[in-house]
Amino acid sequence: MADVKTLLTPMVDLKNQYLKIKSEIDAAIQEVIDSTAFINGPAVKAFQNNLEKYLNVKHVIPCANGTDALQIAMMALGLKPGDEVITADFTYVATAEVIGLLGLTPVLVDVNPDTFDINVEAIEKNITSKTKAIVPVHLFGQCANMEAIMQLAEKYNLYVIEDNAQAIGADYIFSNGGRKKAGTIGHIGCTSFFPSKNLGCFGDGGAIMTNDDELAAKCRMIASHGQSKQYVHDVLGVNSRLDSIQAAILNVKLKYLDKYIEARQWAADMYDRALSQLSEVKIPARQKKSTHVFHQYTLQVKNGKRDALREYLQSQGIPSMIYYPIPLHLQKAYQSDRYKEGDFPVTEQLCNSVLSLPMHTELNEEIIHTITNTIIQFFNK
Ligand SMILES: *Cc1c(COP(=O)(O)O)cnc(C)c1O
Repeated sequence: MADVKTLLTPMVDLKNQYLKIKSEIDAAIQEVIDSTAFINGPAVKAFQNNLEKYLNVKHVIPCANGTDALQIAMMALGLKPGDEVITADFTYVATAEVIGLLGLTPVLVDVNPDTFDINVEAIEKNITSKTKAIVPVHLFGQCANMEAIMQLAEKYNLYVIEDNAQAIGADYIFSNGGRKKAGTIGHIGCTSFFPSKNLGCFGDGGAIMTNDDELAAKCRMIASHGQSKQYVHDVLGVNSRLDSIQAAILNVKLKYLDKYIEARQWAADMYDRALSQLSEVKIPARQKKSTHVFHQYTLQVKNGKRDALREYLQSQGIPSMIYYPIPLHLQKAYQSDRYKEGDFPVTEQLCNSVLSLPMHTELNEEIIHTITNTIIQFFNK
């Protein structure tokens, strides 16, 4: 494309976020280097404790990334090849990938058109005698309908594994007014500290969370080569650790997580205000029973104009992303006799119409106005 303007702002501005807390981060990294406790150092234990407190959950088990967290969780639950695991068709591939890797059968179901979360009626319709678990995904930063999902799980005796890679810090609000943090409602929660996530480190990282002592012990053992004590291996495990340097960085950033969430919510409100009147797009709907931590701010663009809008934004130096362009059931790796094109109309429609705008902690009024004015300009051309 000729004559592309310099980028107004990246999708995620990690550089300016870092510069604001540079001295703290640099000191934390240097401390790990000075101690040379690179693996399982004190920073890892400290982060575990700090995150347990923040989430108000009994156990946090740090691990190498969010995909590992999901895999370790499913291994700890004792799921066996042939067991069916129900998850959303509209999600990042990692969710379904680990199900397949473990020889379990991913059973994909459609999502809700406004809030993008897994459709609870569709879950119930797909429960069979082989179903063992449900993996709701708290997509883009707000919780799936956890109260209804937990009721289903109880009724059919199923495990619930929350994929909380995108919604750390979000609150789920129960009918009785009680609140729990996303990831601490099901039997196990999994999250990712990939740099662009809401709580991101400077490389890969992840964690599992649970209130169940026995499951926590199993996850810890599996993440560490199935070791019950050094050189004693009770079960088949994996090697999945959070590096001390990453934990030290996360210890600093966790202190700012609530502020970061507020900055994202502020940006989302600004986007809303400018775009809610525009009939050609639909602003992201909010769940009634969840706060929204805006991992993504995702529009639905009507009348097949999504790709043209994206191109126009790009020509004006404004990045945008399509999360996600292809439904899982239409990906080669996940092809199955179970599904064909047309089976998940909501997901298929979303993949053709969603557009995520820059969303991060460093947005300001000027940047947002430029972005929203450019979108309005496109439709008035
Ligand atoms: C990022 C992400 C993961 C995987 O996390 P990694 O740390 O990249 O392995 C899993 N599920 C969802 C929904 C994600 O967004």
